[in-house]
Amino acid sequence: MTDSSAHYGFATRAIHAGQDPDPTTGSVIPPIHATSTYAQDGVGGMRGGYEYSRTGNPTRAALQECLASLEGGRHARAFASGMGATDAALRAMLRPGDHILIPNDAYGGTFRLIDKVLGHWGVEHTPVELSDVDAVRAAVRPNTKVIWIETPTNPLLNIADIAGLSQIAHSAGALLVVDNTFASPYLQSPLGLGADVVMHSTTKYIGGHSDVVGGALITSDDELDAQFGFLQNGAGAVASPFDSWLTLRGIKTLELRMEKHSDNAELVVQALLKHPKVKSVLYPGLPEHPGHELASKQMRRFGGMISFTVHGGEQAALDVCARTKLFTLAESLGGVESLIEHPGKMTHASTEGSLLEVPSDLVRVSVGIEAGDDLVADLVTALG
Ligand SMILES: *Cc1c(COP(=O)(O)O)cnc(C)c1O
Repeated sequence: MTDSSAHYGFATRAIHAGQDPDPTTGSVIPPIHATSTYAQDGVGGMRGGYEYSRTGNPTRAALQECLASLEGGRHARAFASGMGATDAALRAMLRPGDHILIPNDAYGGTFRLIDKVLGHWGVEHTPVELSDVDAVRAAVRPNTKVIWIETPTNPLLNIADIAGLSQIAHSAGALLVVDNTFASPYLQSPLGLGADVVMHSTTKYIGGHSDVVGGALITSDDELDAQFGFLQNGAGAVASPFDSWLTLRGIKTLELRMEKHSDNAELVVQALLKHPKVKSVLYPGLPEHPGHELASKQMRRFGGMISFTVHGGEQAALDVCARTKLFTLAESLGGVESLIEHPGKMTHASTEGSLLEVPSDLVRVSVGIEAGDDLVADLVTALG
């Protein structure tokens, strides 16, 4: 499937884009090209455009073509992790003295990279409440080069207006990057709403089976893509052939999985709302969620991530996490199996004492695709 495949439906592109049968063997699935280098027919005579696997690899190229198609972008670059992708994006777009706006509940690792690594190289950052467009506009400075957003955010599931924030970014001469990990390309298409770059931790919904770590950058801007490619080769945090193949294997069922994640999350949300031990439920699919209207406009459905607070403070939250049987206590999200975690002590521990600190009575669940009734029963029992 080539560029002309844009008219195909999402599931068709997930299964076929970049994944034509191998022309020499007929192999229906793109092979794992486990090779570091490629034979040349005379000096400079590359057969398929490949010379060394840090620079390019056919299995990675297949994944990249599929990811670009799913996000509606011209180009994609696959990295060894989401943080590898984020690092490449930031280094392509920022120089010492530049300023970046980040969500005030950004993914902990993103915050740590910007604060603890890029900070030493003279990049300034300001955490902002993304759902408050006026606050974002007010935080823009003359040296603001990037607005980095997540929507829904992690772990508070706030919703940011992608189209509105892209206008603010562009009128300030800055770029808008959307970390689309929580929504997945099936639920949300940021490039179509004006974003310049989409970043993914493909470790999560895209891979979908908790068996591979990876990241990606997707853009329709040729120049930005060339810089991302330069950093793939120049800094080397590329996705391996095996990881690329495994990620492609997961992608094929992305639509089915996202539908089931969303179905199950809706069941779990209803059960949590009724439970006396639950103080509040954060889910953009709820009409009373402050971002609900916006989420309804820019998302197809509301996904599998839910956060909730419990009565009884931190200990009560830790107890729930300790008592579930089907929800495995673990970091990460987006796999077929359900996970539960305490952001304050786990994924977001690095934000303690900062503006990005999360409530201590907060619990986050990644609702998997098991039988929905089993998941509800497990949580209800754990809540006591
Ligand atoms: C996991 C995650 C990342 C980092 O990705 P890795 O693959 O773990 O390096 C970035 N953003 C969000 C929203 C994530 O959930």
